[in-house]
Amino acid sequence: MADISAQDIEALQAGIAGRVSRPGEAAYDEAVNIWNAAITRRPSVVVSCAGSADVVNALAFARREGLEVSVRGGGHNYAGFALTDGGLMIDLTPMKNVSVDAASRRARCGGGTTWGELDGATQAHGLALPGGFVSRTGVAGLTLGGGLGWLSRLAGLSSDNLVGAEVVTADGRVLHASDGENSDLFWALRGGGGNFGVVTEFEFALHPVGPLVHLGLFLFSPDDGAAMFGFARDFVTGLPDECGVFLAGLSVPPQPFVPAELHFTPAFAIVVVGFGDEESHQRLIAPIKETLTPIVELVTPIPYAALQQMFDEGAPWGTYSYEKAVYLHELTDGAIDVILEHAPRKKSPLSFMPIFALGGKYRRIDSESSAFGGSRDIGYVVNISGTAMSAEDYDAERSWVRDCWADLVQHAGGVGSYVNFMTEYEEDRVRSAYGAKYDRLQQIKATYDPDNVFHLNANIPPAG
Ligand SMILES: Cc1cc2nc3c(=O)[nH]c(=O)nc-3n(C[C@H](O)[C@H](O)[C@H](O)COP(=O)(O)OP(=O)(O)OC[C@H]3O[C@@H](n4cnc5c(N)ncnc54)[C@H](O)[C@@H]3O)c2cc1C
Repeated sequence: MADISAQDIEALQAGIAGRVSRPGEAAYDEAVNIWNAAITRRPSVVVSCAGSADVVNALAFARREGLEVSVRGGGHNYAGFALTDGGLMIDLTPMKNVSVDAASRRARCGGGTTWGELDGATQAHGLALPGGFVSRTGVAGLTLGGGLGWLSRLAGLSSDNLVGAEVVTADGRVLHASDGENSDLFWALRGGGGNFGVVTEFEFALHPVGPLVHLGLFLFSPDDGAAMFGFARDFVTGLPDECGVFLAGLSVPPQPFVPAELHFTPAFAIVVVGFGDEESHQRLIAPIKETLTPIVELVTPIPYAALQQMFDEGAPWGTYSYEKAVYLHELTDGAIDVILEHAPRKKSPLSFMPIFALGGKYRRIDSESSAFGGSRDIGYVVNISGTAMSAEDYDAERSWVRDCWADLVQHAGGVGSYVNFMTEYEEDRVRSAYGAKYDRLQQIKATYDPDNVFHLNANIPPAG
């Protein structure tokens, strides 16, 4: 822990509208309580910010005291870089202002907003933008790394829908970034992660969605996994933009619509969500019913906001988690074999392999339009996510993830993958995630954060 005097803390608090807290205080315990309990770093001081001015003051204090800086948006990240060890944590949790302008289809939200909070506000107007699959995830970290969700076929990544941002840079300037203002920074923010400053406000474009959408969830026994993936790789290529599709290796959830004897048994899944009317959804899912034999089937209308919370229970706060992902251009026979072999080997029912099948609008957006670290012709992001309920069981799930990844990466174009699905930011993987964009990102980093103040992230060191 850094040696900071009580007087210094008092002086800091005097310039902060939010709250300064230290170990032993309830506010501190609340701020350092992040999603992944496997992360044990602890800051010396937390500044829970009420606005941009607090962020400016917190950064100035950290600079004066020589403290490492971390930034917490939603705190819902496997790597847990919301936490510094011994430094100063900028906690944006109080910054949750959300406003929606339905006429212009725009929303603004503070840097500490979660997807559940943003979805709630936009859905009141029948609008939405692509967000994550778990509603407690922070809008900030997810958007800055890219942002994959149910609406990605319809409207691209979360970051593709960012139209403006307020950013506090390392030297304490408050900048606005958009296509027309600080456009290099705006390009970098859309996929380049938390490298370039603290985003205190996001402005997004919205799309008409719901409020009711159509869910088609199909679970298959491990014996039918090969048939399911063989079918799915053709099926997903023919889908329209107005749907979301998701494949997975998982444990059958203990839900009321599932026979009790199947609860927690290994399975594979296809989930198709239709954003059009019920008839078009029935037409979309008809080939699944005609070709395959699911052990569980749930076809029902569902509020979009509830869809966004559907996986919340499967990703409880305070679990011990580790993940690693690969980009696949195609679901080849070899890749399917690895998935079929490794998925059922996990020990914890919470561990799973979500497979994001990309297409539609995501693919039609120019790769060069943002820093996002993945080309637009990627077919799939396969995430291997190990989650244990206790510290004792963590090593087994981490080994499962690493073993599966080592085999699956043989079928990928390289080790680079989605930066938001990395628990460890081995440098070659971050660099190869960004490919040819990496040099430009290093130049922009040198302009906005030459001393690499913001390095607790998928770090891109400044050029030179
Ligand atoms: C259970 C679970 C489900 C997920 N599902 C999806 C999904 O469906 N789609 C998807 O794309 N991703 C998903 N993710 C990954 C998620 O996008 C990342 O973990 C993301 O970093 C979370 O953002 P956060 O703000 O909650 O995290 P935090 O831990 O608060 O922050 C993560 C990183 O972002 C930086 N950061 C946070 N806020 C700011 C800010 N305001 N300004 C600058 N930098 C900031 C931090 O410094 C840190 O490096 C999921 C993660 C989990 C744990």
